[in-house]
Amino acid sequence: MADGFWNRILRVDLSSGKTWEEHPTDEFFRQHVGGRSFIAHYLLKEVSADVEPLGPDNRLIFMAGPVTGAPLPGAGRHSVGARSPLTGGFGEAEAGGFWGAELKHAGYDGIIVQGKAEKPVYLWIDDARVEIRDAAHLWGQRTGEVEDAIRAEAGDRLVRIAQAGVAGEKLVRYAVIVNDLNEIAGRTGMGAVMGSKNLKAIAVRGKKQVPLADAKKIRDVAMWVRDTMDENHYNFHHYGTGAAMMGKSLEGHLPVRNWQFGEMDTVELIDAKTLKAEFGEKMDGCYACSVRCKKRVRVDASRAGIEVEPKYGGAEYETLGAVGTNLGIDNLVELCKANQALNWWGLDSVSTGSTIAWAMECYQRGIITKDDTGGLALEWGDGQILNTLIDMIATRQGFGDFLAEGSLAAARKLGRDSEQYAVHVRGLEVAMHDPRGMDRMLENYPVNPTGGDHTGGAHARTSIRNTIGVCQFLAYDDAMTIDILNGVTGWGMTQDELKTVFERGIAMAKLFNLRCGFTAADDKLPARFLEPLKTGPFAGKPLTAERVREVVRDYYVTHGWDEATGTPKPETLSRLGIAEYATA
Ligand code: SF4
Repeated sequence: MADGFWNRILRVDLSSGKTWEEHPTDEFFRQHVGGRSFIAHYLLKEVSADVEPLGPDNRLIFMAGPVTGAPLPGAGRHSVGARSPLTGGFGEAEAGGFWGAELKHAGYDGIIVQGKAEKPVYLWIDDARVEIRDAAHLWGQRTGEVEDAIRAEAGDRLVRIAQAGVAGEKLVRYAVIVNDLNEIAGRTGMGAVMGSKNLKAIAVRGKKQVPLADAKKIRDVAMWVRDTMDENHYNFHHYGTGAAMMGKSLEGHLPVRNWQFGEMDTVELIDAKTLKAEFGEKMDGCYACSVRCKKRVRVDASRAGIEVEPKYGGAEYETLGAVGTNLGIDNLVELCKANQALNWWGLDSVSTGSTIAWAMECYQRGIITKDDTGGLALEWGDGQILNTLIDMIATRQGFGDFLAEGSLAAARKLGRDSEQYAVHVRGLEVAMHDPRGMDRMLENYPVNPTGGDHTGGAHARTSIRNTIGVCQFLAYDDAMTIDILNGVTGWGMTQDELKTVFERGIAMAKLFNLRCGFTAADDKLPARFLEPLKTGPFAGKPLTAERVREVVRDYYVTHGWDEATGTPKPETLSRLGIAEYATA
């Protein structure tokens, strides 16, 4: 067996209460490596087209990569996958923090959960010991309370906890899995799948070291990150994400008011530099990472009406965009409260903000009125309404219950020609990067297997990082990335072989989407991006449907998929060694 793996996948059937282990071969690990390809393998083998995303037969798959848990900056990443309750297709989310590394240190490479527990439970993994424990006392609790309670039960402050928040319990279709209270597996509703299984949390403690083929190589890379911090990671190290919002506004592609505008005059009131200066308590980091790009903020109750605690982190760019600029909100205190509320309820900031943005635009246009909202005025820029709606969505109260289904489902239920304002790809609300100003996103969103996500990635680089378990923010080039992978595993993999791993993963995810009923007609951008921005450098320059189709066609052809249907060709599947999945 190569280093970097334990060759141990934990299987959990919550319906029967049984747990067991699978031991895939070295060949299998080398073929799939981690993340997307692994997730797609289990979905294609075990989740048929008639499996309901929120039913017991869906699989909830947690996968680390070979590098996850190695003593290296950025090596704290893991992936979570399932059939998505938001899109109905391939669901995947990634997270940093400590949980994935702890899972590796406990001696597991992944966990696959199936079935549904009769009553709320949590999974307790203490090195090789696995227990399904009662979680009745944790149900309905906020994430911070759950973390405190589980750690107290374990008598160990270093237990790492991945949990479904109240939003997951309530089956909000864009509920997340919260790790360490502020590291979020955010996209495609993985928290709702967890909640649907009555699984409140997975708590892990491990004391093993990940075996390394070339420990010196890994140490040298770690030293390089530390010694070149200012050169390579200055902005991340000092401000984290969100330091370049002013630049995005000046360039004209900042998401503002449901993507109607690309500029916001007051953006400097809420960017990462202001956030750190006004409320920053310290910078923090994920497992083994010297970049330490995670903001921790504190706002006194005297200013916010409620204390905003550092343990819930600080808003990152996606959150500052989705519940800030894209709602026209420039009130930093309200945004700090919102970030905390999203993390203690367990809601995806992008889908939450985008669904509210859809509703606010409908209100702006008179499509939604106070008769629909229960008397709430959905005015742009109103941070108090934002926080009210977050609480209502997470607990499915009133108008929040309607929004908890996501922007596309809400628009279809409402009708009134409102679907044109839902900014999504295949049902997943688009991340805060405008393809009208960023070609990379034009080439990503329409063909990304999860939909409008910027981290899942249709591109090789992002996908490979997710697959091997390394953070996107580290300035490793391609040569360093493969050196890291080989330094951990000893495989001696080439760039070509690693690229094949990416192609295998993207083709398998595509096969699962085809099984779920998606077609080439779904590989497109939402109507909003075919309209021009109203102001700024990109005003009057919309994307055209023909340009999007060209990009999609090029992607199909480049990857050996049928030019018209987007189905991976038989010869492509054979070349990738995955022909068996075409009929699986
Ligand atoms: S760069 Fe930031 S997000 Fe990435 S691993 Fe390091 S601390 Fe975590």
